[in-house]
Amino acid sequence: MHFTDDGIVIKHMNIKESDKYLVILTAKYGKCRVLAPGARGKASRLLAASQLFSYGSFTFFEGRGYLKLDSAEPKEQFFGLSEELTALSLASYFMELLDMVGDSDAPANDLLRLALNSLYALSKLKLPENIVKPAFELKLMALSGFEPLIGRCGVCGKDAQDPLLNLQNGVLHCASCRDKIDGGVSLPVAEGTLAAMRHVLSSDVKRIFSFSLKQEALEQFYRVCEAYALAQLGHDLPTLAFYNKLL
Ligand SMILES: [Zn+2]
Repeated sequence: MHFTDDGIVIKHMNIKESDKYLVILTAKYGKCRVLAPGARGKASRLLAASQLFSYGSFTFFEGRGYLKLDSAEPKEQFFGLSEELTALSLASYFMELLDMVGDSDAPANDLLRLALNSLYALSKLKLPENIVKPAFELKLMALSGFEPLIGRCGVCGKDAQDPLLNLQNGVLHCASCRDKIDGGVSLPVAEGTLAAMRHVLSSDVKRIFSFSLKQEALEQFYRVCEAYALAQLGHDLPTLAFYNKLL
């Protein structure tokens, strides 16, 4: 059986002499884990579309218990990423995060749009990485079922005083309500940080980078979003460690 969908290559591995194993995040079918036979051959019609970050239309063949890439038409390859090592490694981190979250075969149109908008922001618009990275992390968490509750204090229900975000429980709380939260780590979130977080959570993925913060608030926003994503996922990522070494 054949089926076709738009998607982006979020993981690639060389196998055998000239084959590739790919994870393609698609709009309708979620993550397709697929064999791309001969994709590394110089004359292969799968060569361009089977690179990391390749966005296009992919046609799959489903056999008994396996999925094979039959044909592919690349639409965008984000070549601009390779002009800047930090942008390239940040984009790799985004792909690793996408590989980790979400149900494998649930439709992933929003995640796909988040991926495309973020790669576009890095490769074409050249937006600052210290805005793109935290906004991507926070929106990704929200879209994959880990949205933090940052309305009122999660303990007393009032407007949070001297607010902190508990990373493990994903709730905002007053400094004075801290001892009623069960464990975990809480980080302070100032007014500007909260405003940026609310903007990212309430906006369509196209608009999540459209905010400005003073330097100090931006640094806090950056720290909180990274720490929140790592706390929710439960471990560090090699691509993030590599990116942080470059800074
Ligand atoms: Zn409270």
